[in-house]
Amino acid sequence: MRRRAFLGTVGSLGSLGVLGYASRSPVETLEIRFWLSEQAGTYDGVADRIHDYLELAFDLEFWTLEVSCGGTIPVSTEDGANVTVYGEWPSHVVSGFFDRGEITPAADVNLLVTDGQMRSAPTGYGIPHIASVGGARHIAELEPVELDDRYDVVPYRTPERVMQVIVHEAGHALGLTHDHGVAFRKGDGVVASPMLSSYAWDPEYEGAHSSCGTAYPETDGLSRRLTFSFSTCARRQLEEYQGGFTV
Ligand SMILES: [Zn+2]
Repeated sequence: MRRRAFLGTVGSLGSLGVLGYASRSPVETLEIRFWLSEQAGTYDGVADRIHDYLELAFDLEFWTLEVSCGGTIPVSTEDGANVTVYGEWPSHVVSGFFDRGEITPAADVNLLVTDGQMRSAPTGYGIPHIASVGGARHIAELEPVELDDRYDVVPYRTPERVMQVIVHEAGHALGLTHDHGVAFRKGDGVVASPMLSSYAWDPEYEGAHSSCGTAYPETDGLSRRLTFSFSTCARRQLEEYQGGFTV
Protein backbone atom coordinates (compact mmCIF):
# COMPACT_ATOMS: atom_id res chain seq x y z
CA MET A 1 0.00 0.00 0.00
CA ARG A 2 1.07 3.57 -0.41
CA ARG A 3 3.43 4.91 2.21
CA ARG A 4 1.54 8.18 2.39
CA ALA A 5 -1.44 6.59 4.10
CA PHE A 6 0.75 5.67 7.01
CA LEU A 7 1.96 9.17 7.84
CA GLY A 8 -1.20 10.22 9.63
CA THR A 9 -1.00 7.27 11.98
CA VAL A 10 2.59 7.42 13.14
CA GLY A 11 1.52 9.20 16.31
CA SER A 12 -0.36 6.13 17.43
CA LEU A 13 2.88 4.22 17.24
CA GLY A 14 4.70 6.61 19.56
CA SER A 15 6.09 3.83 21.71
CA LEU A 16 8.04 2.54 18.71
CA GLY A 17 10.27 5.54 19.20
CA VAL A 18 11.89 4.05 22.28
CA LEU A 19 12.99 0.98 20.39
CA GLY A 20 16.48 0.95 19.02
CA TYR A 21 17.79 -0.94 16.07
CA ALA A 22 20.55 -3.41 16.70
CA SER A 23 23.22 -3.65 14.09
CA ARG A 24 24.20 -7.30 13.76
CA SER A 25 26.44 -7.20 10.77
CA PRO A 26 26.62 -9.72 9.31
CA VAL A 27 23.24 -11.14 10.28
CA GLU A 28 23.89 -14.84 10.80
CA THR A 29 20.42 -15.96 11.84
CA LEU A 30 17.29 -14.34 10.47
CA GLU A 31 14.25 -14.74 12.73
CA ILE A 32 10.77 -14.60 11.25
CA ARG A 33 7.85 -15.30 13.61
CA PHE A 34 4.23 -15.23 12.60
CA TRP A 35 0.98 -15.22 14.54
CA LEU A 36 -2.59 -15.88 13.51
CA SER A 37 -5.63 -13.86 14.52
CA GLU A 38 -8.15 -16.04 16.37
CA GLN A 39 -10.32 -16.19 13.24
CA ALA A 40 -7.32 -17.04 11.03
CA GLY A 41 -6.51 -19.84 13.44
CA THR A 42 -9.83 -21.58 12.77
CA TYR A 43 -8.67 -22.87 9.35
CA ASP A 44 -6.80 -26.17 9.28
CA GLY A 45 -3.28 -26.29 7.94
CA VAL A 46 -2.77 -22.52 7.72
CA ALA A 47 0.21 -22.32 10.09
CA ASP A 48 2.02 -25.19 8.33
CA ARG A 49 1.55 -23.65 4.89
CA ILE A 50 2.68 -20.18 5.99
CA HIS A 51 5.72 -21.68 7.69
CA ASP A 52 6.74 -23.69 4.63
CA TYR A 53 6.24 -20.89 2.10
CA LEU A 54 8.11 -18.36 4.25
CA GLU A 55 10.98 -20.85 4.39
CA LEU A 56 10.81 -21.24 0.63
CA ALA A 57 11.05 -17.49 0.03
CA PHE A 58 13.53 -16.44 2.73
CA ASP A 59 15.96 -19.37 2.95
CA LEU A 60 18.82 -17.51 1.29
CA GLU A 61 22.47 -18.47 1.24
CA PHE A 62 23.73 -15.61 3.41
CA TRP A 63 21.81 -16.45 6.60
CA THR A 64 20.41 -19.29 8.63
CA LEU A 65 16.64 -18.92 8.68
CA GLU A 66 14.43 -19.55 11.70
CA VAL A 67 10.73 -19.41 10.92
CA SER A 68 8.35 -20.07 13.81
CA CYS A 69 4.68 -19.71 14.66
CA GLY A 70 3.89 -17.74 17.81
CA GLY A 71 0.31 -19.02 18.05
CA THR A 72 -2.98 -17.16 17.91
CA ILE A 73 -3.67 -13.72 19.28
CA PRO A 74 -6.93 -11.77 19.73
CA VAL A 75 -7.15 -8.59 17.67
CA SER A 76 -10.04 -6.17 17.25
CA THR A 77 -10.05 -6.16 13.44
CA GLU A 78 -9.38 -8.76 10.75
CA ASP A 79 -8.37 -5.99 8.31
CA GLY A 80 -4.83 -6.99 7.35
CA ALA A 81 -3.68 -3.40 6.75
CA ASN A 82 -5.53 -1.47 9.45
CA VAL A 83 -4.39 -3.76 12.26
CA THR A 84 -0.90 -2.35 11.65
CA VAL A 85 -1.74 1.12 10.27
CA TYR A 86 -3.78 2.02 13.36
CA GLY A 87 -1.14 0.69 15.69
CA GLU A 88 -2.77 -2.37 17.23
CA TRP A 89 -0.35 -5.01 15.96
CA PRO A 90 2.77 -2.83 16.39
CA SER A 91 1.75 -2.11 19.99
CA HIS A 92 1.45 -5.88 20.69
CA VAL A 93 4.96 -6.36 19.31
CA VAL A 94 6.39 -3.44 21.26
CA SER A 95 4.78 -4.44 24.57
CA GLY A 96 6.12 -7.96 23.98
CA PHE A 97 9.59 -6.47 23.75
CA PHE A 98 9.05 -4.80 27.11
CA ASP A 99 8.07 -8.12 28.64
CA ARG A 100 4.51 -7.22 29.45
CA GLY A 101 2.89 -8.40 26.28
CA GLU A 102 1.13 -11.51 25.13
CA ILE A 103 3.74 -12.31 22.51
CA THR A 104 7.47 -12.97 22.34
CA PRO A 105 8.70 -10.96 19.37
CA ALA A 106 11.35 -12.06 16.92
CA ALA A 107 14.40 -9.94 16.16
CA ASP A 108 13.70 -9.47 12.46
CA VAL A 109 10.13 -10.01 11.23
CA ASN A 110 6.95 -10.11 13.33
CA LEU A 111 4.10 -11.03 11.02
CA LEU A 112 0.39 -11.23 11.83
CA VAL A 113 -1.89 -13.12 9.45
CA THR A 114 -5.58 -12.28 9.79
CA ASP A 115 -8.69 -13.33 7.88
CA GLY A 116 -9.14 -9.89 6.29
CA GLN A 117 -10.39 -9.31 2.74
CA MET A 118 -7.93 -9.67 -0.16
CA ARG A 119 -9.99 -8.14 -2.98
CA SER A 120 -9.08 -4.48 -2.79
CA ALA A 121 -5.85 -2.81 -1.64
CA PRO A 122 -4.61 -2.32 0.98
CA THR A 123 -4.73 -5.93 2.09
CA GLY A 124 -1.64 -5.80 4.29
CA TYR A 125 1.06 -3.51 5.59
CA GLY A 126 4.73 -3.71 6.48
CA ILE A 127 6.91 -1.35 8.52
CA PRO A 128 10.41 -2.12 9.81
CA HIS A 129 10.24 -5.54 11.53
CA ILE A 130 6.43 -5.60 11.71
CA ALA A 131 3.90 -6.70 9.08
CA SER A 132 0.33 -7.91 8.76
CA VAL A 133 -1.77 -9.43 5.99
CA GLY A 134 -5.30 -10.81 5.62
CA GLY A 135 -6.48 -13.79 3.60
CA ALA A 136 -6.05 -16.73 6.00
CA ARG A 137 -9.08 -18.59 4.59
CA HIS A 138 -7.31 -18.98 1.23
CA ILE A 139 -4.00 -20.31 2.50
CA ALA A 140 -5.05 -23.87 3.27
CA GLU A 141 -5.81 -24.30 -0.46
CA LEU A 142 -2.13 -23.83 -1.37
CA GLU A 143 -0.25 -26.81 -2.70
CA PRO A 144 2.28 -28.19 -0.20
CA VAL A 145 5.81 -26.91 -0.81
CA GLU A 146 8.04 -29.34 -2.67
CA LEU A 147 11.81 -29.27 -2.82
CA ASP A 148 13.11 -26.98 -5.59
CA ASP A 149 9.83 -25.08 -5.72
CA ARG A 150 11.77 -21.88 -5.25
CA TYR A 151 12.40 -21.45 -8.92
CA ASP A 152 8.93 -22.47 -9.91
CA VAL A 153 6.35 -20.21 -11.43
CA VAL A 154 2.86 -20.55 -9.97
CA PRO A 155 -0.54 -19.55 -11.36
CA TYR A 156 -2.14 -16.24 -10.44
CA ARG A 157 -4.87 -17.74 -8.26
CA THR A 158 -6.14 -16.31 -4.99
CA PRO A 159 -4.24 -18.73 -2.67
CA GLU A 160 -0.92 -18.09 -4.44
CA ARG A 161 -1.57 -14.35 -4.60
CA VAL A 162 -2.39 -14.20 -0.87
CA MET A 163 0.77 -16.09 0.02
CA GLN A 164 2.83 -13.83 -2.22
CA VAL A 165 1.39 -10.78 -0.43
CA ILE A 166 2.50 -12.33 2.86
CA VAL A 167 6.04 -12.68 1.47
CA HIS A 168 5.76 -9.12 0.08
CA GLU A 169 4.86 -7.57 3.46
CA ALA A 170 7.56 -9.59 5.22
CA GLY A 171 9.93 -8.18 2.58
CA HIS A 172 8.86 -4.65 3.50
CA ALA A 173 9.55 -5.52 7.15
CA LEU A 174 13.15 -6.28 6.10
CA GLY A 175 13.53 -3.02 4.18
CA LEU A 176 12.60 -4.06 0.65
CA THR A 177 10.55 -1.70 -1.52
CA HIS A 178 8.38 -2.18 -4.61
CA ASP A 179 11.40 -1.17 -6.75
CA HIS A 180 13.01 -4.47 -5.72
CA GLY A 181 10.27 -6.33 -7.55
CA VAL A 182 10.55 -7.45 -11.15
CA ALA A 183 8.27 -8.88 -13.83
CA PHE A 184 9.49 -10.92 -16.76
CA ARG A 185 8.15 -12.78 -19.79
CA LYS A 186 8.14 -16.56 -19.57
CA GLY A 187 6.35 -18.56 -22.24
CA ASP A 188 2.88 -17.12 -22.77
CA GLY A 189 2.85 -15.33 -19.44
CA VAL A 190 4.32 -12.52 -17.36
CA VAL A 191 5.73 -13.54 -13.99
CA ALA A 192 5.79 -11.08 -11.06
CA SER A 193 8.24 -11.45 -8.18
CA PRO A 194 7.10 -10.84 -4.58
CA MET A 195 7.94 -7.14 -4.20
CA LEU A 196 6.16 -6.14 -7.42
CA SER A 197 3.31 -8.64 -7.09
CA SER A 198 -0.03 -7.45 -8.52
CA TYR A 199 1.42 -4.01 -9.29
CA ALA A 200 2.78 -5.70 -12.44
CA TRP A 201 -0.78 -5.46 -13.80
CA ASP A 202 -1.78 -2.13 -12.25
CA PRO A 203 -1.92 0.61 -14.90
CA GLU A 204 -1.55 3.22 -12.15
CA TYR A 205 1.71 1.77 -10.86
CA GLU A 206 4.37 4.44 -11.20
CA GLY A 207 7.84 3.52 -12.27
CA ALA A 208 9.22 2.10 -15.46
CA HIS A 209 12.24 0.25 -14.10
CA SER A 210 13.07 -1.93 -11.13
CA SER A 211 16.15 -1.43 -8.94
CA CYS A 212 17.54 -4.41 -10.83
CA GLY A 213 17.64 -2.18 -13.93
CA THR A 214 15.04 -4.18 -15.82
CA ALA A 215 12.03 -2.63 -17.53
CA TYR A 216 8.55 -3.91 -16.76
CA PRO A 217 7.20 -5.91 -19.71
CA GLU A 218 3.96 -5.36 -21.56
CA THR A 219 1.28 -7.56 -20.04
CA ASP A 220 -1.60 -7.24 -22.53
CA GLY A 221 -2.88 -10.58 -23.74
CA LEU A 222 -0.45 -12.58 -21.59
CA SER A 223 -1.25 -14.89 -18.69
CA ARG A 224 -0.60 -13.73 -15.14
CA ARG A 225 1.88 -15.75 -13.11
CA LEU A 226 3.68 -15.36 -9.79
CA THR A 227 6.88 -16.54 -8.17
CA PHE A 228 7.97 -16.67 -4.51
CA SER A 229 11.57 -16.17 -5.58
CA PHE A 230 13.06 -12.73 -4.89
CA SER A 231 14.75 -10.81 -7.71
CA THR A 232 18.52 -10.48 -7.80
CA CYS A 233 18.42 -6.87 -6.56
CA ALA A 234 16.04 -7.83 -3.72
CA ARG A 235 18.53 -10.53 -2.71
CA ARG A 236 21.40 -8.04 -2.80
CA GLN A 237 19.40 -5.70 -0.57
CA LEU A 238 18.53 -8.50 1.87
CA GLU A 239 22.20 -9.46 2.04
CA GLU A 240 22.90 -5.92 3.31
CA TYR A 241 20.20 -6.08 5.98
CA GLN A 242 21.89 -5.27 9.26
CA GLY A 243 19.63 -6.37 12.00
CA GLY A 244 16.46 -5.88 13.94
CA PHE A 245 14.96 -4.71 17.19
CA THR A 246 16.55 -4.12 20.50
CA VAL A 247 15.28 -2.12 23.48
ZN1 LIG B 1 4.03 -3.08 -0.73
